[in-house]
Formats: sequence, C-alpha cells, structure tokens
Amino acid sequence: MLPDESRILRDRLVPAPAQFHLASGNPLRIQDDCEVSLCTDSDAAESPAETRRLFKTYWGARPKLRPGAPSGAPLEKEAYRLEVKPDGIVLRSGGLAGVRHALSTLRQLAEAERGVEKHAHYLLAPCRIEDAPALPFRGVHLCFFPETEVFEIEKNLRLAAQYKFNHVVLECWGIFPWKSHPDFSWADRRVSRSDLARLVRLAGELGLTLIPQFNLLGHASASRAMAGKHAILDFKPSLQSLFEPDGWSWCLTNGRTRGILTDLVVELHEFFGRPPYFHIGFDEADNLGTCAACRKRESKALVKEHLLYFHGLLASRGAKTILWHDMLVQNDDPRWKGGYTACGLPEQGLSELHRELPKDLILADWQYDYPSKDGAEPSWPTTRFFKEQGFPLLVCPWDNAKGIRSLGELARKEGLFGLLATTWHHQHDEELCRIYHHAAKASWEKEPDWSTSHLVQRLMFAHHQRLTGWDMGVKHYRKTGSAQYQLPQHTWPSR
Ligand SMILES: [Zn+2]
Repeated sequence: MLPDESRILRDRLVPAPAQFHLASGNPLRIQDDCEVSLCTDSDAAESPAETRRLFKTYWGARPKLRPGAPSGAPLEKEAYRLEVKPDGIVLRSGGLAGVRHALSTLRQLAEAERGVEKHAHYLLAPCRIEDAPALPFRGVHLCFFPETEVFEIEKNLRLAAQYKFNHVVLECWGIFPWKSHPDFSWADRRVSRSDLARLVRLAGELGLTLIPQFNLLGHASASRAMAGKHAILDFKPSLQSLFEPDGWSWCLTNGRTRGILTDLVVELHEFFGRPPYFHIGFDEADNLGTCAACRKRESKALVKEHLLYFHGLLASRGAKTILWHDMLVQNDDPRWKGGYTACGLPEQGLSELHRELPKDLILADWQYDYPSKDGAEPSWPTTRFFKEQGFPLLVCPWDNAKGIRSLGELARKEGLFGLLATTWHHQHDEELCRIYHHAAKASWEKEPDWSTSHLVQRLMFAHHQRLTGWDMGVKHYRKTGSAQYQLPQHTWPSR
C-alpha cells in the first residue's frame, strides 16, 4: 500500500495550516528564476525584498518575482494563501507577517532533491494552502538565566518565529547590563549590551515583538527562591533597604525603590525599542510588606498605588502592562481549589484589588498542570473569572501537553487575547519540543489536529531546530539540537 502522502506532508508542518490540499503534477524545483507571483494587501513596499531575502536564506535561490492580482476580500495581516504549481508559486498574503508565515510553511514542506549525493535545489509538492491564526497574541516566555547562553536564546527566538508565534517575552534573570544602576545585576554574569542588542534586532527581523519583563513586586532577587541567590544583595548588602528584609519583594514604602525601579523600567523599555507591551511580573510576592515601614500599612493600598504608578508610566510610553494573575486571587479561596494557581495570602488581602484596577491591564494566567478532576476537562476558574471581570487574558501553560491543549482550546472558544507559553528552566530537550509543538498548534490552529505521533513530533522538532542551526551557521557540537549535551553529565563515560 502506498503511504498517505498528504498525511506525511501535513505532519511536517508545525503549526498545520487551516487547509492543505495536495495537487497532482510534478514537484516544483526551487531554484534561480523560479516564478513567484506575489500579492500582499498591505506592506506592499517591503514584501518583495523580504521574499527575496527568505528565498536566499532558506533555499539559496533567487526567485523571479512578479506582482500578483488581488482577488476576493483583503486578508488579515498574518493570513496567507499559497498555490504551488509545477512551474511556480502564487502567494497572496494580508501583509509582511503573512509573507513570512507562508515562506515558513514552504520551508517546512520543502525537501532536498532525490538521487544525488549533494543536492542543488529543493522540491515542493504541488499543493494549495489557506491559512490564518486562531489567536491574535501567540507568545513564548523565555528566561535568560545566568546559566543560559546567548545562542540558546537566539535559537529559541528563531524557532518561535518558524512556529508562527508573534511575541516573545524575555525575562532577564540578573544578567542585564544596566547603565542606570550597574549594581542591579550579577557583576560576573552580565551579558554584553551588543549581544542583547543583536537579539532585539533579530527578533524584529523575524517578525517577533520582543517584550521585556522586569519583576516589580516579588522575585526581586532575580533568582529562583530555592537556590537562595540574590542578584543584587549577595554582592551589595548596603542596598537592603530597597527590599523587604528577606530580600524577595521590593519595599513599596521606600521612595528610592520607586525611583530606581522607574529608571530600570524606562531603560529596559528603551533598550527593547519601545515595544507596545511590558511585562511587570508581579507573581509569588510572598512575605510582602513585612519591613518596619510596610507592615504598618495596608498591603492592598500599597500594591494598588505601586501598580497604578507603573501602569501609568508604561502607558505614557505607549506600552500596555502585562502581569501574572496569581497575587490577585487568594490561595484559600474555594473557587480556585483543585490545582489552579492562586498565590495571594489571606493576610495580604489582595483578593478584591482587581475591582480597583484599570481594565487594560493584561492578565497572564499561568498554570503549570492539567488539574483534571474525575477525568473531566479542567474548568480553569481563574481565567474565566478575570474574563468576566473584563480583563484581556493570556493563558499561560507550562510543559504539560494536555494542559497546553486545554488552555489553548479555552482561549480559542472564549475569544481570549492569546496564549503565552512558559518554558522556565525547561528550555531544552523533550520539554522544549513538547512546549513549542503544542503551544504553536494550540494558538495558531483553529481546530488543532493532535494526531501526529509522538515519534514524528520529535523527529520534526529536531529537523526544525536544525533549520535554525543552519540559519545561525552553527559549527559547535554544544550548539546543535535541543540540548548542549545529549547525555547528563553524571553518565558521561569519561570525565
Ligand atoms: Zn517595606
């Protein structure tokens, strides 16, 4: 029996297009003078140059471009239609983003010519494709730890663009080389400004909006709680008054804290090219308001004033504020029982704060797991609650495949703003594959097809990673694949 050709080709595409129809005829050879009819409903000035650049990068070919005639209603910016024929390609898109998505699809579809040792060109099966995203905001949250290397962030940015995400939140964990306050990162772990500037530029070229994150409530140590490190206080104990006595949260009654945080937010927003969003963290602020000055004040009033100040500052710079949702829901509230994320403590009294907040704050509702009860689909009560309160919502799953699928379905059905996949310290190996594969499909595909086998998912992910490695000119073992080393160090045969 002949294999199902359409199935084989569809399995290569992550995320899969809304419509994919194989046509008959010989494959198209992607080579110099390959005919491409290009029609974009906006960004008409930039689209031809971008098409040429991507043909060169992906396939080393110079296409013969000609303007196509528009037919039918204009497409939304990220939507595209493709017809691959034995003698050329017809590409119609809503804008530059649609052009990039279309060529990303073709790159995943193309294969090297057969029957030779070294191929000279790629082949594309004749087909028709129609595609558009399900959610407007599709993002990945990446952590730049002191342990992370620049190339890892670059690979994950390139992979995000290939998987048709349009936003990346980059959280720098004590590695940003501040000009305004140099003491506010690890003296021996700062990443160079030129490396970071290159990542910001690259994200723009890839069509990604790169969103900075800086934690303005808890996580002020810029380190994980369990490691006990503090990016500022471990080397500069003289700065303790800026924090609550345990160092985890900022001291909200200290005017100098406000002044310094203002400088840091402005510097970071400026460095990232003034993007339309800024993520202020705000999660897991345990032991908030415990210093001699703060413990005399009501936490709710302190947090509200602090949040409104930074919301106003960012609005004045043209940016919307994103924050994690968990401090606005209390951990003893029966409505969120059953494994849903709620970190507000009863003594903090923040559970009604949401009523006094502006409704253009974007709440990022993070959930680690798939809290199913008796086999039923999770109800995701915090997400539904904040939607009813009128906030734009980002669902933020982690590395649980069922959780990603379920939250994606909720976002699509409820018409939420989007999905922000979180990776935390799982930016490698099988976990990275699981997160990117599922989150791309859950946020892009209107009716995701989850039938691709686990084995094929892994192989495709490895191939897609290799494409990014070729784009980066990777020449070192450590920089290939999805992990620096394929064996955990304790299993190495020799040391
Ligand atoms: Zn304080």
